Amino acid sequence: MSDCIFCNIVSGEIPATVVYEDDQVLAFDDLSPQAPVHTLVIPKAHFSSLADDVDTATLGAVFTAVRAVAVLKGIDQSGYRTIVNSGPDSMQTVEHLHVHVMGGRKMAHGMVVFSGD
Ligand code: AMP
Ligand code: ZN
Repeated sequence: MSDCIFCNIVSGEIPATVVYEDDQVLAFDDLSPQAPVHTLVIPKAHFSSLADDVDTATLGAVFTAVRAVAVLKGIDQSGYRTIVNSGPDSMQTVEHLHVHVMGGRKMAHGMVVFSGD
C-alpha cells in the first residue's frame, strides 16, 4: 500500500519515533499527542481497520505489543487507555489498523477522549 502513511512508516520512507518493533508489529509515537504518552501500535501488514478480516495471530501480536509498549513507557502500573477507531463514525483518519495507547495523565472519565457532538 504505497499511498498508506503507516505502511510508509513500516518501510522507513516516512520517519517515526519507534518505541517497539517485532516481526509483525511496529509501535511509534503519535505525531500529535493527546496525552504525555501517546503511542500507536500497528500491524506491519496492511489492514484498513477492524472491519477488515484481521486474523487472530495479528490481533494477538498487536495487543501483546500494547502491553510491551506500556512497560517501555512506564505506564503499565499507572494505567492507560487504548482506542481503536474503525470507519467514518469513529473519525478514523488513517486507514491502517492502529491502537492508540494513551497514558501519563488521568483521562476524562468515561469513553470520550476526542470530543465530538
Ligand atoms: P485515527 O484518528 O484513529 O485514525 O488516528 C490517526 C492518528 O495518527 C492521529 O492521532 C494522528 O496524529 C496520527 N498520525 C498521522 N500521521 C502520523 C505520522 N506520520 N506519524 C505519527 N502519527 C501520525
Ligand atoms: Zn497501510
